[in-house]
Amino acid sequence: MVVTRFAPSPTGFLHVGGLRTALYAYLFARQNKGKFILRIEDTDQKRFVEGSVESLQEVLKFFDLNWDEGPYFQSQRTELYRKFANQLLDEGKAYRCFCTEEDLEQMRADQTARKIAPKYDRRCRELNPEKMQAKLDAKVPFVIRQFIPYEEVTFTDLIRDEMRFHGRDVDDQVLIKSDGFPTYHLANVVDDHDMGITHVIRGEEWLPSTPKHIWLYRDLGWTPPTFAHLPLLLNPDRTKLSKRQGDVAAEDYIKKGYLKEAILNFIAFLGWNPGTEEELFTLDQLVERFSLDRVQKGGAVFNLEKLDWLNGHYMREKSPKDLAELIMPLLEREPWFSKNLLNDQFLTFVASVQTRMKSLNDGPAMLRPFLLENLDYNEALFLSEKMKVDKAMVALALEQALPALETLNDYTDDAIKECLTKVIEKMGVKNGQMLWPLRVALTNEEYSPGVFELLRVMGKELSLKRLRTALDKIKA
Ligand code: GLU
Repeated sequence: MVVTRFAPSPTGFLHVGGLRTALYAYLFARQNKGKFILRIEDTDQKRFVEGSVESLQEVLKFFDLNWDEGPYFQSQRTELYRKFANQLLDEGKAYRCFCTEEDLEQMRADQTARKIAPKYDRRCRELNPEKMQAKLDAKVPFVIRQFIPYEEVTFTDLIRDEMRFHGRDVDDQVLIKSDGFPTYHLANVVDDHDMGITHVIRGEEWLPSTPKHIWLYRDLGWTPPTFAHLPLLLNPDRTKLSKRQGDVAAEDYIKKGYLKEAILNFIAFLGWNPGTEEELFTLDQLVERFSLDRVQKGGAVFNLEKLDWLNGHYMREKSPKDLAELIMPLLEREPWFSKNLLNDQFLTFVASVQTRMKSLNDGPAMLRPFLLENLDYNEALFLSEKMKVDKAMVALALEQALPALETLNDYTDDAIKECLTKVIEKMGVKNGQMLWPLRVALTNEEYSPGVFELLRVMGKELSLKRLRTALDKIKA
């Protein structure tokens, strides 16, 4: 059975790259009817960020990337790692290192001066048993280092094909730190083995760690899993995706009001494509169509225009009812909003703004003119030099439009248009001189749907009330 895992370190927010790793690991498990495990790699206590374990799980759940097992916490499994570190020590595949920070710094400085690549020089491996015992008796703190063999290691990466590394280029990795906690390398290998992980899917930045892991598997007598290293995420200028150039936390995109369907669809394409022109994929469709063979080696460019486009698509695809449900929590955060502003026209209002909404966050401002009992008119908004609308024109337009609309029983776009066109012709003014003041009277906003649509969507009662109030205000 295929078993994959997502193994984040709780060091802050979930990076979009992390979300992609989780998504691919999830998709691969699901399409193979396998298991997807969540494991929290929290052995580095210094980098632990309060709350990150919770928010990580919330984000995964928000995207429906539900795990079958876990979360397991490495901090609760330290006995297991120590057991295997001791086994490696006993078998001479690892050794104690008593060097202090200063010793190591001095070593690096000497090596740099001699123009050789900095690397632990194994002085503690050579310690004779008496010296070693003396240090142990004196309780000198030590780390446990992996003894990296002087040989080549090869493995087949599902995305990168054959990979080769040589031991001469790899440092003797610390496996257990002086505080007794394991490093990422040891804990990761022990857990991947213990949890029966068959496929390790992770970012390219972990590639240099993989030879160390493969030697560890071998030294512990285990078969390594299959590896798939995902391409880096790049800014449009092909530099590594960084916070400086935009948002990199998955949560930022949720906060910006992108739909989860759009974000997931977008993330799925960061390094994968179906090999056809198709661009729209739901999570279920991705489970069916995703394949690691089609993941590219080269960096994947993070193109936000694509996300906007996808979001627009999924926004328009929603039923007004579903969209209304998604907007509701945002509305509830607005100071002007209260539940009793909701009436049976609400879904009509939502449908009307839906086509223009770029993100969920547009919802409250776009709905406000439909929902508010009274608009707090900004007189300046009525006036437009460009459209030749002064205060007298506003009053005139409203005075003429009101009685005509009052007698109109068929409140459809066409009937409204015909009715107002007649008024405009009779007055001998330009369209804008009538429509601009009406639009502002209806919404008190600079941008909104067109007047005919506004009138129809608001309905006769509300729209005429708005026009009368605006007229009173302008004449006051
Ligand atoms: N804890 C590592 C991370 O934060 C996991 C890397 C791996 O998947 O092996 O990404």
